[in-house]
Amino acid sequence: MTLPVHPVPAPGGLLSDYLIRLALANSLRPAQLARYLNQPRLWQRDPDCHVPEDLLRQMDRQTGLPVGTLETTSMRALIRNLHLAMPGDTTLIRFITVTGRHTRVPGQYGHPVCPRCLAEGKPMRREWRLTTTVLCQEHGLALVDRCNHCGHAINHSRKHVRAGRTAQPLDYTPDLCGICQQGLQAPTLQDGYALWLQQAMSRAANGDNVCWGDLTLSSHEFAGITECLLRLNRPAAALRHPRWRPETAPIQLRLGMVSSTGHLMSGGLTGCLSRLQQQDLTPVTLLARLPQECVPHWFAQAVQDVLSRRPHARRSWQGPASFTFTEEQWEAITPLLPPEPTTGGGRAGRRTHRQVLENFLSRCAAGTTDEHWKGAVSVPTMRRRTRTLAQTGVLDRIIQVLLDHPTGNTCEVLSSPETVRQLRQAGCSEAEYLAQLTICQTDRRLVIGQSACMIIEAGKEKHGTNRTVRPSCNEKKQLVDAPARS
Ligand SMILES: [Zn+2]
Ligand SMILES: [Zn+2]
Repeated sequence: MTLPVHPVPAPGGLLSDYLIRLALANSLRPAQLARYLNQPRLWQRDPDCHVPEDLLRQMDRQTGLPVGTLETTSMRALIRNLHLAMPGDTTLIRFITVTGRHTRVPGQYGHPVCPRCLAEGKPMRREWRLTTTVLCQEHGLALVDRCNHCGHAINHSRKHVRAGRTAQPLDYTPDLCGICQQGLQAPTLQDGYALWLQQAMSRAANGDNVCWGDLTLSSHEFAGITECLLRLNRPAAALRHPRWRPETAPIQLRLGMVSSTGHLMSGGLTGCLSRLQQQDLTPVTLLARLPQECVPHWFAQAVQDVLSRRPHARRSWQGPASFTFTEEQWEAITPLLPPEPTTGGGRAGRRTHRQVLENFLSRCAAGTTDEHWKGAVSVPTMRRRTRTLAQTGVLDRIIQVLLDHPTGNTCEVLSSPETVRQLRQAGCSEAEYLAQLTICQTDRRLVIGQSACMIIEAGKEKHGTNRTVRPSCNEKKQLVDAPARS
């Protein structure tokens, strides 16, 4: 049995919004539809973020719409584009506002909406749930997340719960407050900085690249940088609460935060770094409480270069800490390898090919020098083994396999200047191809090298100090120049 009427989801609309429209089109209450789809507890959670496993398949059966189309209406796709991995704990997902709890308590998490869009019959938009979305571009209004009359949080996905016991289908009036039934009103708002950040973030959330000054950033890179700068612009009310998160903050608090972050980010990386420098921040303030994988490595490096007070004593932000093959990669590599060595090894025991290769690539990725290397496999062993593998052409084929299976940080590790240098030393001919990749990747570092130096020069003139240009800048330039010279 299928539902007699099945409207098509509006582009950019939310899954919960579509579910409600689907129910009403079929003269069902949303709670009845949920039972009909075998999801009796659907409305008790946040159906857009926590999409139950078989809900989409059930909906596919009932409406004939492919699961893929239905999935684009949930928040899942956006979360995937902003997070490197789907977070294990889904209660607080970075960048996605929390809704749905304590609906009847004034001042609690509301769903941000543009009342005029809703009054015109447009769907609830997925982007409205991003913490960086604070205004409706079309109507030039600030979004609202609570009723101006009674102060209750807006929660369209629970609006019908109260009316669910009545026999009649609910009037779907998303532009009215669910509690006092008065019209929602939003103030007009013109804020170029907030608008820029909001637009850039929704592009990133949709998986597109974002232009930031001269740089083109992937959605993960942009999200990482935005996260780190958003934290700087916490509203004063949040300073006393170390566990404060923008995901649970009302829109009035997020407004100022988004606007000042947009201002900080205007002018691209160079502008951003010089503003950070004017604010007299340290790298620790900016990077300390963020997981290392969130922030792009090159951005962290630039921040270290520009904001570090004691450049010589600073501990450089390192590349990905370690490299391990995925099972898929290793399965493809195993047939290429010669038999494991049967002699040598001494007290530490013989090292397997896998151990040697993983240690070799980890060391390249982190750029650790010989004397600082503390991995399981010693530097001479790695050097000896990679040279043997390179001579027989095995190393070349391993690189090709890895380039064909570029999961995780593989590409980043392979194209790092240190990897190219080490592979050249070992005599691996794929190093030249990787050098080409490095040039593509280091375009970004070149830009950073220049901007960092410019800012440092400007700082010297302003403060009259005789700080020398830091070695890291020179080093970085050498790294950038190295592949180009060959
Ligand atoms: Zn609107
Ligand atoms: Zn109200």
